[in-house]
Amino acid sequence: MTGHDLSRGMPRPAQFAPDDAGAHADALERILRRIPQRWGREISHGPGWYPIVVACHEQLVAIDPDYVVHQVKQKYGTLNYYCTSDAELTPEQWEAFDAITDQAARVSAVTCELCGEPGEMCERREWFKTLCVPCGEPLGYLSVARKGGAVEQH
Ligand SMILES: [Zn+2]
Repeated sequence: MTGHDLSRGMPRPAQFAPDDAGAHADALERILRRIPQRWGREISHGPGWYPIVVACHEQLVAIDPDYVVHQVKQKYGTLNYYCTSDAELTPEQWEAFDAITDQAARVSAVTCELCGEPGEMCERREWFKTLCVPCGEPLGYLSVARKGGAVEQH
């Protein structure tokens, strides 16, 4: 009976963080709770980018603790972190705000979306993802750079 009562008092597990969030679950949960409910609270990219997303979030919070997230997703192989601020930011702060999400996109372009190791733009039937070779090959994703070289030989 005591055990049962204790379990009922346990804090609820993360509601929105992805199942594979691991050590990043709390941070991702805080990010997802910033997305207005109607937008859909999900992160649609692989776990290799979770550290990039968390670092991006921590820098944005430093500029505006109440900034709003719209979407966190993979698009054409890079991370798109869409967010905005309702605070009265200075032009310099807006610049810094944009620079942070731009930097996250640049880092994602050289980081495997699945494992976080160095990666490069890969393609499978016109779907683009940034992956490392060990992650990409079993999924049929091939490096765009190497593929491009092969096409030129035709
Ligand atoms: Zn990988």
